[in-house]
Amino acid sequence: MAYATAVELAEKARPTFDVRALQAGKRYRLYRRPDGTARHLVYQRGPVRYVSFALAGSLAVRKGRRPVRTVRRTASGTVEASLYEAIDRAGAPLALAQAMAKVYAWQIDFFRLRPGDGFRVIYEEKRVAGKTIGVGRILGARFDHRGDPYYGIYFEEEKEYFNEAGESLRKSLLQAPIEFAQVSSGFQERRYHPVLEEYRAHNGTDYAAETGTPVYSVGDGRVVSAENEKYNGKNVKIRHNDTYTTQYLHFSKIADGIEPGTRVQQKQVIGYVGETGLATGPHCHYILYKNGEPVDHTEQTLPSAPPVADSLRAEYNRVKARVLPKLRPPEERERRQRAAAASRESFPAASAIPSPLPGNGGKRTLLPGRL
Ligand SMILES: [Zn+2]
Repeated sequence: MAYATAVELAEKARPTFDVRALQAGKRYRLYRRPDGTARHLVYQRGPVRYVSFALAGSLAVRKGRRPVRTVRRTASGTVEASLYEAIDRAGAPLALAQAMAKVYAWQIDFFRLRPGDGFRVIYEEKRVAGKTIGVGRILGARFDHRGDPYYGIYFEEEKEYFNEAGESLRKSLLQAPIEFAQVSSGFQERRYHPVLEEYRAHNGTDYAAETGTPVYSVGDGRVVSAENEKYNGKNVKIRHNDTYTTQYLHFSKIADGIEPGTRVQQKQVIGYVGETGLATGPHCHYILYKNGEPVDHTEQTLPSAPPVADSLRAEYNRVKARVLPKLRPPEERERRQRAAAASRESFPAASAIPSPLPGNGGKRTLLPGRL
């Protein structure tokens, strides 16, 4: 191609695509005329988006998207070493591991799986020209962890996952206020304080992280205080409900807009890791107060987010009736069918009565106060 043509092409492309964004290593296709001269070039920006450059005549530049097809798939497997390895062995895309970790973020610590833990998951796979390019929503999953089954059923009306009893998989409070932080000191009744050089209680959990790491509120709530104190340094206290309040110490900076009275949402950033006040290095000292007393948050069964709304129960039960049976392992399905057949034989009249859905005992969780 003549240099002048290339410059003109780049100029023409500008409103559609900045040619400086061309990346080495990305795929492109060159289409030629029968005489060998280049007709147009298609640059693949990603698995879906492309830019087509006409190399002759009008030098038109056009952006396009390849059609993405969503297919429903089921994968199942047993964990030997890690979830990634199990998903790979099941022939499913590795992105499924991340999607599952999100669904079960409140129930299962995927860093502490046990060999023998197993899963069965119904999910959407995104494909372009027959090739898998990613994972869409998980529609339903069952994870067997340490002998207990954990169900997660996606309910479109509330855009949330619920278990077989219609309880939310989400907890109203997260396990930790920082993503991927290391616990440097746990909750202890008595420990030697490195700065004060005396034994005293450690009323919270220290999360060591680099200065500036965002710290978020573990739940929805209202800011009670946001101040700079001698020992606690810059710190924020949030009231979540009648029972639970949390506090976060030693910030390098309190996030903008965080002041007494501010409403915050779960995972909203409230400050940044630092070492203000009495601290030996950058970390966040996190305290969970239950009825005003500091408690070890790792020992608490935290309250769940609200269950399926009463007005949507019937719809949720329909979704569940469709999804749940497909998530049961084959031997359990057989066992249930045999049990159902046996009960029909011994109580012939029972089959005439519409039976409630399995697992739906209408069980409700009493929340210690809504957030
Ligand atoms: Zn501490």
